[in-house]
Amino acid sequence: MIKAMYEKGFTGAIVVCDICEKRIEDAGGGAAVYPSVYTEEEILEVLHVHRGSCRKMAEKKLGGKNNTVSDELIDHMLNACASVGLSVEELERKRNANRESGVSRL
Ligand SMILES: [Zn+2]
Repeated sequence: MIKAMYEKGFTGAIVVCDICEKRIEDAGGGAAVYPSVYTEEEILEVLHVHRGSCRKMAEKKLGGKNNTVSDELIDHMLNACASVGLSVEELERKRNANRESGVSRL
């Protein structure tokens, strides 16, 4: 799940594991799990989880490994950005602008 946290003088988005409810701090250690439904434009529940035992629990919660799809968290986040029209270049431009104005911890 996406949550927010005040940290180092800024409040910003963080990703929290939907199973253990601890922060996912390393995109390489996270996954997104959702039901393997292939009905066009159906909006699906997604669980953001740590890889390993949390991902296995998420698969179980959503109907089992054979009924779910798991993406690496980094791919999921890239797709989420693309779905709202954000390119990697736009994210970089915004991050640099925020650094210059001091409104971001990134
Ligand atoms: Zn977890």
